[in-house]
Amino acid sequence: MICLYVHIPFCRERCPYCDFFLVTKPGFTERFFEALAVETVSKASLIEGQAIKAIHFGGGTPSLVSPSFIDAWLSQVSGFARISAETEITLEANPEDLSPASLDALKSVGVNRLSIGVQSFSDRKLQALRRVHLAADARRTVAEALERFPSVSIDLICGAEGEALAEWESDLRTALDLRPQHISVYMLTLEEKTRLWRDVRKGLRDLPGEETQAAMYRMAAPMLGGARYRHYEISNFALEGHHSRYNLASWMREPYLGFGPAAHSFLVDGDIETRFSNVSSLTRYLADPAGAVDFRETLTEAQRFDEQVFLSLRIRKPLAVGFLRKGHKLGHQHLDAVLSGLQEKGWIELESGAVLLTKAGFLFADLVAAELLSE
Ligand code: SF4
Repeated sequence: MICLYVHIPFCRERCPYCDFFLVTKPGFTERFFEALAVETVSKASLIEGQAIKAIHFGGGTPSLVSPSFIDAWLSQVSGFARISAETEITLEANPEDLSPASLDALKSVGVNRLSIGVQSFSDRKLQALRRVHLAADARRTVAEALERFPSVSIDLICGAEGEALAEWESDLRTALDLRPQHISVYMLTLEEKTRLWRDVRKGLRDLPGEETQAAMYRMAAPMLGGARYRHYEISNFALEGHHSRYNLASWMREPYLGFGPAAHSFLVDGDIETRFSNVSSLTRYLADPAGAVDFRETLTEAQRFDEQVFLSLRIRKPLAVGFLRKGHKLGHQHLDAVLSGLQEKGWIELESGAVLLTKAGFLFADLVAAELLSE
């Protein structure tokens, strides 16, 4: 079993807070999918005959491209790997691209899970985030998607300029009224070199402080939990059976193969684990899609240990203390002291000889991981 990821790197324009690899030049779609077909042939032997657990079309904005391109790529993969009714096929979409006709078209080509970049149900906040859709578009498209797809996910952002707790609470309430099967909650972060980062540094824009953002995050968990959404990863909440199979597989360190510029892959062959990534340039990708991989590494013992720690914490997967002792940087006694300190802060709990993040600890997962890593 393996998962596949396809990076479709096109957006109408770059949102001021976004640092993903993408281009805003229209007119490259056809050449991109021709290149993707070439890359797919070049990697076919890596997945030949295998069952595909999940396919994720991410970006960028995959809803910008015609569903016929998605259809053609899925048919190509079906020629050498097994895509079945059980395969989760997710496509990331923005509300401004969706209509009843486009939703029907996406469904007809096999997409069975839609992940909609709602971000907010407030026009004021959408404007602050410089998103092009309106709150009414977001409400309408989520409702229309729910009528058609067995699983719909929405992304919400908290911590936009001028946002107060009441506005965030209203976003959560609207989401709960619509009741998508999956909700992702992200705190707006300042990524270096983005327009927002420059504007904040120049004092042109001001975001809510860390305390307010943390209060927003803390508000989400009980509200969504009280409505039967399970908090299964730091930023992700799902109704029973509706977690993202693709994302969960990557957090569980299961293999996945990426296609398209800047896509990452993780493959396991017996004891050997390899990570590799494609070139972050559309021009170079189009020129040589079969040679798109520009970074490859075989993980060392220490890297494997660190990934296991970091990723297990994110999904509250128990980490055996015995396992931590083998890889921890400063030896047994120091680890005991570290664990006691983290317990006192209320960030972890110990259960049957294993470490788990507490719900309060979700906010501090990076700090907890830093204490437990190998170096
Ligand atoms: S639409 Fe999404 S991927 Fe595109 S620029 Fe905005 S945040 Fe980034």
